[in-house]
Amino acid sequence: MRDVMNDNYGNPSSVHSFGQRAKAALDQARASVAAAIGAEPAEIYFTSGGTEADNLALKGAAQAVLKKGNHVIVSSIEHHAILESGHFMQKNGYEVTFLACGKDGRIAVDSLRDALKPTTTVVSVMMANNETGMIQPVADMAALCREKGVLFHTDAVQAVGKIPVNVKDLGIDMLSLSAHKFYGPKGVGALYVKQGVRVTPLLHGGSHEKRRRAGTENLPGIVGLAKALEIALARREHAQARMTELSSYFIQNVQSRIEHVYLNGSLTNRIPSTVNLSFQGVEGESIILSLDLKGIAVSSGSACTSGALEASHVLMAMGIDPLLAQGSIRFSLGRQTTKEQLDYTVSVLPDIISRLRAMSASYRP
Ligand code: PLP
Repeated sequence: MRDVMNDNYGNPSSVHSFGQRAKAALDQARASVAAAIGAEPAEIYFTSGGTEADNLALKGAAQAVLKKGNHVIVSSIEHHAILESGHFMQKNGYEVTFLACGKDGRIAVDSLRDALKPTTTVVSVMMANNETGMIQPVADMAALCREKGVLFHTDAVQAVGKIPVNVKDLGIDMLSLSAHKFYGPKGVGALYVKQGVRVTPLLHGGSHEKRRRAGTENLPGIVGLAKALEIALARREHAQARMTELSSYFIQNVQSRIEHVYLNGSLTNRIPSTVNLSFQGVEGESIILSLDLKGIAVSSGSACTSGALEASHVLMAMGIDPLLAQGSIRFSLGRQTTKEQLDYTVSVLPDIISRLRAMSASYRP
């Protein structure tokens, strides 16, 4: 990244040698990202992140085949980048089906089969959920869509760099990824679009990214994305084995020290770095603030809108009791997370939870 900001500062679209040197860095990054997910370089389109890649996939592909039909299907546990795109499309004349989710946090292939219609053009189901880490059966869904001549997109923002992702093996048409989910820079991502699949651009302007995404490329971000992915893949197996061990250790310890704590999702089919626990009778926001005072950064799926706590749409879709959903916390384990940090978290949590439960009107042991 330093090299393209300092010494190789050309614009990849310029014809002169400085531009061509920058273009070589762009081409190299594209080839590297393509190889990482089993794609061809010409199938990779760089974007400003996962959100843009998701928008381009869903709106762009649906728009390109609008003559065939106006029905799209997304799952109810998608990231807002897909969910809100679906709501926007609904308001603009598309028919949108939001697939229900099982209690285990997974979307059933049968529910997709039931939702498909002759007018369905695009389906989008994420590869791994950002709140629960639950891995979705995307290969089976993609096979079903292929059979019916429907395009299949997966938001793999939470999966790339963590579990094996090969677009050819998965049989998918489009895939989104985002650099900051595998320790790359923020504000850069990519969309894989299988050769032959048409996507109408969201941004109009210059002829960058083969006319699918206008605007001078964020070259520092793009080379950073490619390098981060290379490093993440080289360390993936070791990192995931370590994460699986740490995450089981953490869940077991929290549940043995505190009563009425539930894992959202299941122990299997899960990205181990995401641990989503519901603490009965406590608001997630209060836990976040208390843990923050102890130097521990966690998040919750719930959002505080106009003074009221709105439970996570993912947990609600899983049929979890709204009160329990409001007491959910997402613990994200990362490359730097140590067993000692988890022990420290487990050591401070019981007091925090009992103090909050003592003040809670909804906690009835
Ligand atoms: N999709 C998923 C599953 C995510 O977790 C995120 C980010 O948290 C996004 C999309 C959006 O990616 P970005 O922040 O790069 O726009």
